Amino acid sequence: MSLDTSTLYLVATMVAAMLGAMLLFFGKQENIPALKWWGTAYLLGAASVALGTLAGAALGAMLSLALDAVGFVACGMVWNASRVFHGRKPNLPGLVLGAIAWIAAVMTLGPESSPLRLTIGAGIVAIYAALTATELWSERRRTLQKRWPTVAVPVLHGFVLMLPILLGDLLRPHDGAFGSSIWVTVFSVELVLYAVGTVFVIFMLVSERTVTAHKTAASMDPLTGMFNRRGFAEATSRVIEREANAGRPATVLIFDIDHFKSINDRFGHPAGDEILKLFATVVINTLRITDLSGRIGGEEFAALLPCSLEEGVIAAERVRESFASSGIVVEDGPVDTTVSIGVAGGPAGTELEVLLAAADTALYQAKRNGRNRVEAAEELPLSLEKWRRKSAGLAGHPRRQPGIPRLA
Ligand code: GH3
Ligand code: MG
Ligand code: MG
Repeated sequence: MSLDTSTLYLVATMVAAMLGAMLLFFGKQENIPALKWWGTAYLLGAASVALGTLAGAALGAMLSLALDAVGFVACGMVWNASRVFHGRKPNLPGLVLGAIAWIAAVMTLGPESSPLRLTIGAGIVAIYAALTATELWSERRRTLQKRWPTVAVPVLHGFVLMLPILLGDLLRPHDGAFGSSIWVTVFSVELVLYAVGTVFVIFMLVSERTVTAHKTAASMDPLTGMFNRRGFAEATSRVIEREANAGRPATVLIFDIDHFKSINDRFGHPAGDEILKLFATVVINTLRITDLSGRIGGEEFAALLPCSLEEGVIAAERVRESFASSGIVVEDGPVDTTVSIGVAGGPAGTELEVLLAAADTALYQAKRNGRNRVEAAEELPLSLEKWRRKSAGLAGHPRRQPGIPRLA
Protein backbone atom coordinates (compact mmCIF):
# COMPACT_ATOMS: atom_id res chain seq x y z
CA MET A 1 0.00 0.00 0.00
CA SER A 2 1.39 3.40 -0.87
CA LEU A 3 0.27 6.45 1.05
CA ASP A 4 0.84 9.96 -0.15
CA THR A 5 2.81 11.73 2.55
CA SER A 6 1.56 15.26 1.92
CA THR A 7 -2.06 14.08 2.02
CA LEU A 8 -1.39 12.21 5.23
CA TYR A 9 0.19 15.26 6.80
CA LEU A 10 -2.73 17.44 5.75
CA VAL A 11 -5.26 14.99 7.21
CA ALA A 12 -3.23 14.83 10.42
CA THR A 13 -3.08 18.59 10.72
CA MET A 14 -6.76 19.02 9.92
CA VAL A 15 -7.68 16.53 12.65
CA ALA A 16 -5.34 18.29 15.07
CA ALA A 17 -6.76 21.72 14.18
CA MET A 18 -10.33 20.53 14.65
CA LEU A 19 -9.51 18.97 18.02
CA GLY A 20 -7.66 22.15 18.98
CA ALA A 21 -10.68 24.31 18.20
CA MET A 22 -12.89 21.90 20.16
CA LEU A 23 -10.59 21.97 23.20
CA LEU A 24 -10.33 25.75 23.06
CA PHE A 25 -14.10 26.14 22.81
CA PHE A 26 -14.74 23.74 25.71
CA GLY A 27 -11.96 25.32 27.76
CA LYS A 28 -13.47 28.79 27.28
CA GLN A 29 -17.01 27.64 27.98
CA GLU A 30 -16.14 25.73 31.14
CA ASN A 31 -13.25 27.98 32.13
CA ILE A 32 -10.64 25.23 32.34
CA PRO A 33 -7.29 26.97 31.66
CA ALA A 34 -5.48 23.69 30.85
CA LEU A 35 -7.89 23.01 27.99
CA LYS A 36 -7.16 26.45 26.56
CA TRP A 37 -3.43 25.62 26.64
CA TRP A 38 -4.04 22.25 24.99
CA GLY A 39 -6.34 23.75 22.36
CA THR A 40 -3.94 26.58 21.47
CA ALA A 41 -1.07 24.08 21.29
CA TYR A 42 -3.00 21.94 18.82
CA LEU A 43 -3.95 24.92 16.66
CA LEU A 44 -0.39 26.27 16.61
CA GLY A 45 1.06 22.84 15.88
CA ALA A 46 -1.44 22.21 13.10
CA ALA A 47 -0.85 25.64 11.56
CA SER A 48 2.91 25.16 11.58
CA VAL A 49 2.81 21.66 10.00
CA ALA A 50 0.10 22.62 7.48
CA LEU A 51 1.94 25.75 6.29
CA GLY A 52 5.21 23.84 6.15
CA THR A 53 3.63 21.06 4.06
CA LEU A 54 1.63 23.32 1.75
CA ALA A 55 4.17 26.02 1.12
CA GLY A 56 7.16 23.71 1.47
CA ALA A 57 10.13 24.89 -0.53
CA ALA A 58 8.40 28.15 -1.46
CA LEU A 59 9.08 29.39 2.06
CA GLY A 60 12.38 31.11 2.67
CA ALA A 61 14.86 29.58 5.09
CA MET A 62 14.02 32.11 7.82
CA LEU A 63 10.28 31.60 7.50
CA SER A 64 10.45 27.84 7.61
CA LEU A 65 12.74 28.11 10.63
CA ALA A 66 10.14 30.34 12.31
CA LEU A 67 7.41 27.79 11.46
CA ASP A 68 9.48 25.01 13.02
CA ALA A 69 9.97 27.13 16.12
CA VAL A 70 6.19 27.60 16.41
CA GLY A 71 5.79 23.82 16.18
CA PHE A 72 8.23 23.27 19.04
CA VAL A 73 6.52 25.94 21.14
CA ALA A 74 3.28 24.00 20.53
CA CYS A 75 4.93 20.85 21.96
CA GLY A 76 6.02 22.91 24.96
CA MET A 77 2.44 24.11 25.38
CA VAL A 78 1.10 20.54 25.53
CA TRP A 79 3.51 19.88 28.39
CA ASN A 80 2.53 23.15 30.09
CA ALA A 81 -1.14 22.25 29.71
CA SER A 82 -0.59 19.16 31.87
CA ARG A 83 1.21 21.33 34.44
CA VAL A 84 -1.64 23.85 34.52
CA PHE A 85 -4.17 21.02 34.74
CA HIS A 86 -2.57 19.92 38.01
CA GLY A 87 -2.56 23.44 39.41
CA ARG A 88 1.09 24.19 38.71
CA LYS A 89 2.37 27.37 37.11
CA PRO A 90 3.30 27.27 33.40
CA ASN A 91 7.05 26.92 32.88
CA LEU A 92 7.80 29.71 30.41
CA PRO A 93 11.56 29.16 29.92
CA GLY A 94 10.84 25.48 29.28
CA LEU A 95 8.13 26.49 26.81
CA VAL A 96 10.58 28.21 24.46
CA LEU A 97 13.72 26.20 25.19
CA GLY A 98 12.93 23.54 22.57
CA ALA A 99 12.44 26.17 19.87
CA ILE A 100 15.66 27.94 20.87
CA ALA A 101 17.58 24.64 20.80
CA TRP A 102 16.20 23.94 17.33
CA ILE A 103 17.12 27.38 15.97
CA ALA A 104 20.60 27.03 17.43
CA ALA A 105 20.97 23.56 15.84
CA VAL A 106 19.87 24.80 12.41
CA MET A 107 22.14 27.84 12.59
CA THR A 108 25.20 25.85 13.54
CA LEU A 109 24.68 22.65 11.54
CA GLY A 110 23.89 23.87 8.04
CA PRO A 111 21.78 22.04 5.43
CA GLU A 112 24.25 19.25 4.70
CA SER A 113 23.68 17.51 8.03
CA SER A 114 19.92 17.12 7.63
CA PRO A 115 19.69 13.62 9.22
CA LEU A 116 21.34 14.98 12.36
CA ARG A 117 18.92 17.89 12.35
CA LEU A 118 15.99 15.49 12.09
CA THR A 119 17.40 13.54 15.01
CA ILE A 120 17.64 16.69 17.09
CA GLY A 121 14.12 17.79 16.13
CA ALA A 122 12.60 14.42 16.97
CA GLY A 123 14.63 14.38 20.18
CA ILE A 124 13.17 17.73 21.28
CA VAL A 125 9.60 16.52 20.62
CA ALA A 126 10.33 13.27 22.46
CA ILE A 127 11.68 15.18 25.46
CA TYR A 128 8.48 17.25 25.63
CA ALA A 129 6.41 14.04 25.35
CA ALA A 130 8.43 12.53 28.21
CA LEU A 131 7.96 15.66 30.33
CA THR A 132 4.21 15.53 29.67
CA ALA A 133 4.10 11.85 30.68
CA THR A 134 6.08 12.60 33.85
CA GLU A 135 3.73 15.42 34.74
CA LEU A 136 0.69 13.16 34.36
CA TRP A 137 2.42 10.24 36.07
CA SER A 138 3.25 12.24 39.19
CA GLU A 139 -0.49 12.86 39.65
CA ARG A 140 -1.52 9.21 39.38
CA ARG A 141 -2.08 8.65 43.16
CA ARG A 142 -5.41 6.94 43.91
CA THR A 143 -6.57 5.95 40.45
CA LEU A 144 -3.55 4.04 39.24
CA GLN A 145 -5.29 1.58 36.92
CA LYS A 146 -7.39 4.22 35.22
CA ARG A 147 -4.43 6.50 34.70
CA TRP A 148 -2.36 4.29 32.45
CA PRO A 149 -3.53 5.82 29.13
CA THR A 150 -2.53 9.28 30.35
CA VAL A 151 1.06 8.10 30.49
CA ALA A 152 0.98 5.49 27.73
CA VAL A 153 -0.10 7.94 25.01
CA PRO A 154 2.75 10.47 25.36
CA VAL A 155 5.30 7.70 26.05
CA LEU A 156 4.31 5.84 22.87
CA HIS A 157 4.44 9.10 20.95
CA GLY A 158 7.96 9.79 22.21
CA PHE A 159 8.97 6.19 21.46
CA VAL A 160 7.74 6.27 17.86
CA LEU A 161 9.69 9.48 17.35
CA MET A 162 12.84 8.09 18.90
CA LEU A 163 12.72 4.75 17.11
CA PRO A 164 14.08 5.93 13.72
CA ILE A 165 16.75 7.88 15.54
CA LEU A 166 17.90 4.77 17.34
CA LEU A 167 17.60 2.59 14.25
CA GLY A 168 19.10 5.23 11.99
CA ASP A 169 22.03 5.81 14.28
CA LEU A 170 22.65 2.16 14.95
CA LEU A 171 22.02 0.60 11.57
CA ARG A 172 22.30 3.21 8.85
CA PRO A 173 24.29 6.14 10.17
CA HIS A 174 24.77 7.92 6.83
CA ASP A 175 21.54 7.25 5.01
CA GLY A 176 20.67 10.34 3.01
CA ALA A 177 17.23 9.01 2.03
CA PHE A 178 16.23 9.00 5.67
CA GLY A 179 13.84 11.94 5.22
CA SER A 180 11.70 10.19 2.62
CA SER A 181 11.74 6.77 4.25
CA ILE A 182 8.78 4.78 5.53
CA TRP A 183 9.14 6.68 8.80
CA VAL A 184 7.58 9.79 7.34
CA THR A 185 4.41 7.77 6.68
CA VAL A 186 4.60 6.21 10.13
CA PHE A 187 5.02 9.67 11.67
CA SER A 188 1.99 11.14 9.98
CA VAL A 189 -0.24 8.19 10.86
CA GLU A 190 1.07 8.31 14.40
CA LEU A 191 0.39 12.05 14.52
CA VAL A 192 -3.31 11.46 13.88
CA LEU A 193 -3.46 8.69 16.48
CA TYR A 194 -1.56 10.81 18.99
CA ALA A 195 -3.81 13.84 18.46
CA VAL A 196 -6.97 11.79 18.93
CA GLY A 197 -5.51 9.72 21.79
CA THR A 198 -4.46 12.81 23.69
CA VAL A 199 -7.87 14.38 23.46
CA PHE A 200 -9.37 11.14 24.74
CA VAL A 201 -6.97 11.29 27.68
CA ILE A 202 -7.75 14.95 28.34
CA PHE A 203 -11.48 14.33 28.52
CA MET A 204 -10.88 11.28 30.71
CA LEU A 205 -8.93 13.45 33.16
CA VAL A 206 -11.52 16.20 33.19
CA SER A 207 -14.42 13.82 33.76
CA GLU A 208 -12.48 11.87 36.39
CA ARG A 209 -11.92 15.06 38.34
CA THR A 210 -15.61 15.97 38.21
CA VAL A 211 -16.80 12.46 39.11
CA THR A 212 -14.47 11.89 42.09
CA ALA A 213 -15.48 15.27 43.41
CA HIS A 214 -19.09 14.08 43.56
CA LYS A 215 -18.63 10.50 44.65
CA THR A 216 -18.71 10.45 48.43
CA ALA A 217 -22.23 9.98 49.69
CA ALA A 218 -21.39 11.43 53.11
CA SER A 219 -20.73 14.71 51.39
CA MET A 220 -24.01 14.84 49.51
CA ASP A 221 -27.38 16.40 50.22
CA PRO A 222 -29.98 13.75 49.33
CA LEU A 223 -32.74 16.24 48.45
CA THR A 224 -30.85 18.25 45.83
CA GLY A 225 -27.99 15.89 44.94
CA MET A 226 -25.59 18.74 45.63
CA PHE A 227 -22.72 18.81 48.12
CA ASN A 228 -23.90 19.25 51.70
CA ARG A 229 -22.11 21.68 54.02
CA ARG A 230 -19.38 19.15 54.80
CA GLY A 231 -18.81 18.12 51.19
CA PHE A 232 -18.76 21.73 50.09
CA ALA A 233 -16.19 22.67 52.74
CA GLU A 234 -13.94 19.75 51.75
CA ALA A 235 -14.17 20.32 48.03
CA THR A 236 -13.69 24.08 48.30
CA SER A 237 -10.59 23.79 50.47
CA ARG A 238 -8.96 21.69 47.74
CA VAL A 239 -9.95 24.10 45.01
CA ILE A 240 -8.89 27.16 47.02
CA GLU A 241 -5.47 25.60 47.53
CA ARG A 242 -5.11 24.73 43.84
CA GLU A 243 -6.19 28.22 42.72
CA ALA A 244 -3.88 29.87 45.26
CA ASN A 245 -0.91 27.82 44.01
CA ALA A 246 -1.72 28.81 40.46
CA GLY A 247 -2.07 32.47 41.48
CA ARG A 248 -5.69 32.74 40.42
CA PRO A 249 -8.46 34.64 42.25
CA ALA A 250 -11.48 32.96 43.84
CA THR A 251 -15.00 34.19 44.48
CA VAL A 252 -17.65 32.92 46.89
CA LEU A 253 -21.41 33.27 46.40
CA ILE A 254 -23.93 32.71 49.20
CA PHE A 255 -27.58 32.32 48.19
CA ASP A 256 -30.59 32.55 50.50
CA ILE A 257 -34.06 31.99 49.07
CA ASP A 258 -36.39 34.89 49.93
CA HIS A 259 -39.40 34.45 52.21
CA PHE A 260 -39.02 30.71 52.09
CA LYS A 261 -40.86 30.21 55.35
CA SER A 262 -43.89 31.83 53.78
CA ILE A 263 -43.61 29.48 50.73
CA ASN A 264 -43.74 26.54 53.12
CA ASP A 265 -46.62 28.09 55.03
CA ARG A 266 -48.70 28.85 51.94
CA PHE A 267 -48.00 25.85 49.73
CA GLY A 268 -46.85 23.16 52.14
CA HIS A 269 -43.52 21.61 53.00
CA PRO A 270 -43.37 19.22 49.97
CA ALA A 271 -43.87 22.16 47.63
CA GLY A 272 -41.06 23.92 49.51
CA ASP A 273 -38.84 20.90 48.88
CA GLU A 274 -39.62 21.09 45.16
CA ILE A 275 -38.57 24.73 45.12
CA LEU A 276 -35.28 23.77 46.77
CA LYS A 277 -34.69 21.15 44.08
CA LEU A 278 -35.58 23.65 41.40
CA PHE A 279 -33.13 26.16 42.82
CA ALA A 280 -30.37 23.54 42.91
CA THR A 281 -31.03 22.79 39.23
CA VAL A 282 -30.90 26.49 38.38
CA VAL A 283 -27.55 26.86 40.16
CA ILE A 284 -26.03 23.77 38.52
CA ASN A 285 -27.27 24.68 35.05
CA THR A 286 -26.24 28.31 35.31
CA LEU A 287 -22.75 27.89 36.75
CA ARG A 288 -19.84 26.18 35.02
CA ILE A 289 -18.71 22.65 35.74
CA THR A 290 -15.53 23.99 37.30
CA ASP A 291 -17.59 25.99 39.82
CA LEU A 292 -18.38 24.21 43.07
CA SER A 293 -21.77 24.55 44.66
CA GLY A 294 -23.55 23.08 47.66
CA ARG A 295 -26.52 23.33 49.99
CA ILE A 296 -25.03 24.65 53.20
CA GLY A 297 -28.25 25.04 55.20
CA GLY A 298 -32.06 24.74 54.95
CA GLU A 299 -32.64 27.22 52.11
CA GLU A 300 -29.10 28.46 51.92
CA PHE A 301 -26.65 27.52 49.18
CA ALA A 302 -23.08 28.51 48.41
CA ALA A 303 -20.76 28.37 45.43
CA LEU A 304 -17.06 28.80 44.87
CA LEU A 305 -16.03 30.16 41.47
CA PRO A 306 -12.42 30.22 40.28
CA CYS A 307 -12.76 33.76 38.90
CA SER A 308 -12.64 37.45 39.81
CA LEU A 309 -15.29 39.25 41.85
CA GLU A 310 -16.67 40.99 38.74
CA GLU A 311 -17.19 37.69 36.92
CA GLY A 312 -18.69 36.24 40.10
CA VAL A 313 -21.24 39.06 40.27
CA ILE A 314 -22.23 38.40 36.65
CA ALA A 315 -22.69 34.69 37.41
CA ALA A 316 -24.73 35.52 40.53
CA GLU A 317 -26.93 37.86 38.52
CA ARG A 318 -27.56 35.07 36.00
CA VAL A 319 -28.64 32.69 38.78
CA ARG A 320 -30.92 35.34 40.29
CA GLU A 321 -32.60 36.12 36.98
CA SER A 322 -32.98 32.49 36.01
CA PHE A 323 -34.61 31.58 39.36
CA ALA A 324 -36.88 34.64 39.31
CA SER A 325 -38.13 33.77 35.84
CA SER A 326 -38.78 30.09 36.54
CA GLY A 327 -42.53 30.85 36.59
CA ILE A 328 -43.69 28.17 39.06
CA VAL A 329 -47.48 28.02 39.40
CA VAL A 330 -49.29 25.70 41.82
CA GLU A 331 -53.04 25.24 42.37
CA ASP A 332 -53.09 28.10 44.85
CA GLY A 333 -51.41 30.47 42.41
CA PRO A 334 -47.95 31.53 41.30
CA VAL A 335 -45.03 31.00 43.66
CA ASP A 336 -42.63 33.90 43.78
CA THR A 337 -39.22 32.38 43.50
CA THR A 338 -36.60 34.97 44.32
CA VAL A 339 -33.21 34.71 45.89
CA SER A 340 -30.79 37.13 47.53
CA ILE A 341 -27.10 36.65 46.84
CA GLY A 342 -23.97 37.88 48.58
CA VAL A 343 -20.72 37.79 46.60
CA ALA A 344 -17.15 38.16 47.86
CA GLY A 345 -13.98 37.76 45.86
CA GLY A 346 -10.33 38.11 46.60
CA PRO A 347 -6.93 37.72 44.99
CA ALA A 348 -5.11 34.39 44.92
CA GLY A 349 -4.53 32.96 48.36
CA THR A 350 -7.48 34.66 50.11
CA GLU A 351 -8.72 32.31 52.82
CA LEU A 352 -12.08 30.65 52.36
CA GLU A 353 -13.32 31.82 55.76
CA VAL A 354 -12.63 35.42 54.84
CA LEU A 355 -14.57 35.05 51.60
CA LEU A 356 -17.48 33.29 53.29
CA ALA A 357 -17.72 35.88 56.06
CA ALA A 358 -17.64 38.74 53.56
CA ALA A 359 -20.19 37.06 51.28
CA ASP A 360 -22.46 36.55 54.29
CA THR A 361 -22.27 40.25 55.14
CA ALA A 362 -23.08 41.09 51.51
CA LEU A 363 -26.05 38.69 51.63
CA TYR A 364 -27.36 40.44 54.73
CA GLN A 365 -27.06 43.70 52.83
CA ALA A 366 -29.00 42.22 49.88
CA LYS A 367 -31.82 41.21 52.25
CA ARG A 368 -31.85 44.67 53.84
CA ASN A 369 -31.92 46.37 50.46
CA GLY A 370 -35.15 44.64 49.50
CA ARG A 371 -34.27 41.03 48.51
CA ASN A 372 -34.17 39.52 44.98
CA ARG A 373 -30.80 41.17 44.43
CA VAL A 374 -27.06 40.61 44.28
CA GLU A 375 -24.69 42.52 46.55
CA ALA A 376 -20.91 42.38 46.35
CA ALA A 377 -18.66 42.76 49.37
CA GLU A 378 -16.47 45.72 48.59
CA GLU A 379 -14.58 45.86 51.85
CA LEU A 380 -12.63 42.67 51.34
CA PRO A 381 -10.41 43.68 48.42
CA LEU A 382 -9.88 47.13 49.94
CA SER A 383 -8.83 45.88 53.36
CA LEU A 384 -6.76 43.15 51.74
CA GLU A 385 -5.00 45.77 49.65
CA LYS A 386 -4.21 47.74 52.77
CA TRP A 387 -3.03 44.58 54.45
CA ARG A 388 -0.88 43.72 51.46
CA ARG A 389 0.67 47.16 51.32
CA LYS A 390 1.39 47.08 55.02
CA SER A 391 2.85 43.59 54.90
CA ALA A 392 4.95 44.41 51.82
CA GLY A 393 7.04 46.60 54.10
CA LEU A 394 7.67 43.68 56.47
CA ALA A 395 10.34 41.08 55.93
CA GLY A 396 9.53 37.43 55.20
CA HIS A 397 7.48 35.35 52.81
CA PRO A 398 4.08 36.86 51.89
CA ARG A 399 2.22 33.60 52.59
CA ARG A 400 3.69 33.57 56.09
CA GLN A 401 2.30 36.92 57.12
CA PRO A 402 -0.03 37.12 60.13
CA GLY A 403 -3.64 36.24 59.31
CA ILE A 404 -5.86 38.40 57.17
CA PRO A 405 -8.10 40.53 59.41
CA ARG A 406 -11.51 38.92 59.70
CA LEU A 407 -14.42 40.79 58.25
CA ALA A 408 -18.06 40.59 59.29
P1 GH3 B 1 -35.67 35.62 54.22
O1 GH3 B 1 -36.21 36.21 52.97
O2 GH3 B 1 -35.28 36.64 55.18
O3 GH3 B 1 -34.55 34.67 53.94
O4 GH3 B 1 -36.84 34.80 54.87
P2 GH3 B 1 -37.01 33.23 54.98
O5 GH3 B 1 -38.42 32.95 55.29
O6 GH3 B 1 -36.47 32.59 53.74
O7 GH3 B 1 -35.99 32.88 56.14
P3 GH3 B 1 -36.12 31.99 57.42
O8 GH3 B 1 -34.69 31.70 57.81
O9 GH3 B 1 -36.98 32.68 58.43
O10 GH3 B 1 -36.83 30.67 57.01
C1 GH3 B 1 -36.21 29.59 56.43
C2 GH3 B 1 -37.21 28.50 56.30
O11 GH3 B 1 -36.70 27.38 55.52
C3 GH3 B 1 -37.62 27.90 57.61
C4 GH3 B 1 -37.62 26.40 57.41
O12 GH3 B 1 -38.84 25.84 57.78
C5 GH3 B 1 -37.43 26.25 55.92
N1 GH3 B 1 -36.68 25.04 55.60
C6 GH3 B 1 -35.45 24.67 56.01
N2 GH3 B 1 -35.10 23.48 55.49
C7 GH3 B 1 -36.11 23.07 54.71
C8 GH3 B 1 -36.34 21.90 53.90
O13 GH3 B 1 -35.51 21.00 53.78
N3 GH3 B 1 -37.53 21.81 53.23
C9 GH3 B 1 -38.47 22.79 53.32
N4 GH3 B 1 -39.58 22.66 52.62
N5 GH3 B 1 -38.28 23.89 54.08
C10 GH3 B 1 -37.13 24.04 54.77
MG1 MG C 1 -32.03 31.61 55.72
MG1 MG D 1 -34.41 32.75 53.27
